[in-house]
Amino acid sequence: MYLTLMVKLLPDAEQRKTLIDTMHRFNKACDFASVIAFRDSVFSKVALQQIVYCDIRREFGLPAQLAIRAISRVVESYRADDTHLHHFREDSAVVYDQRILSFKGIDRVSMNTCSGRIKVPVIMGDYQKQRFERVKGQADLVRKGDDFYLAVVVDVPEAPQYTHTEVIGVDMGIENVATASTGVNHTGAKVKEVRRKHGELRKNLQSAGTRSAHRHLVKLSGRESRFMRDVNHVISKQLVADAKGTSSAIAVEELNGIRKRTTVRKAQRRDHSSWAFGQLRQFIEYKAALAGVPFLAVDPRNTSRECPVCHHIDKKNRPTRDNFRCVSCGLAGPADYIASLNIRSRAAVNQPIERDVILDHLVPPCSSLLS
Ligand SMILES: [Zn+2]
Repeated sequence: MYLTLMVKLLPDAEQRKTLIDTMHRFNKACDFASVIAFRDSVFSKVALQQIVYCDIRREFGLPAQLAIRAISRVVESYRADDTHLHHFREDSAVVYDQRILSFKGIDRVSMNTCSGRIKVPVIMGDYQKQRFERVKGQADLVRKGDDFYLAVVVDVPEAPQYTHTEVIGVDMGIENVATASTGVNHTGAKVKEVRRKHGELRKNLQSAGTRSAHRHLVKLSGRESRFMRDVNHVISKQLVADAKGTSSAIAVEELNGIRKRTTVRKAQRRDHSSWAFGQLRQFIEYKAALAGVPFLAVDPRNTSRECPVCHHIDKKNRPTRDNFRCVSCGLAGPADYIASLNIRSRAAVNQPIERDVILDHLVPPCSSLLS
């Protein structure tokens, strides 16, 4: 499986200038080639190279390999869609390959720039170090705010998938990020606290409406997405470890169902878009594949309205966002937990959920399940 590692560069002031300069020249060259490609409908690499290569070298001062990469980039972008002119922002990624970029051990990278080869220190976490030997030689230089990263492609082997004997259903939502059918609610108090704090801060900044408030808002959203990414990593890691430890498969709702199903109050709308359901699911899926844990997606319809015991489906089964109470048999419990049970039973069609099984799963967050 191909994964992308983000490796942070630690350039000194001089190298920083060089990287910015190279990035700008590279993208201006792309823009230049793009205009010609589109105007003359030249979308083949060989043909475009013949027309623009010399001009790119001369006009933008790009080294030969970077000039060729810029032309490839334009050709690839038109391969996806050649119905309109493509523009390249000056701080878009610069595409490197093994001829113009090579790692010197785990703490330094040598890369071609408009000012020759430079050796830039890099910093890697344990996660990156473990996978580093599998670098495929392709890397994008990207800029995020003031920082530079290399997005490096690595090929990581997947573990052989085992035959599962159980299924862990996982319900993902706004209030509770992930609720598992094992009874574990993965939304820690810390998540709620941080989101509450950020929410307040955001409200204050928004009402201030000044330029500096706007800058702070942008920073806040960056901090928030890093925090959420981290949370999603922790939750997915835990879920996959739980599944592996119990020879279980992990079942989630099919992606397109999640947004439609949740009723969003206005106040929650921001959370809804910013809270990366997609990201959590993606993390669970690739970590499961690496660990050999079967990953199943089920039909998301009515998972929050169906009674897992008598299978009565009714909007009235869910009187509030947090609570489920079956109008037919009286089973009651936290709504997200009930949804996770339905997801579980949809994936484990041969393992009907009996009331006993649900009672087995009774743990503190679900203690109200007894009807
Ligand atoms: Zn029922």
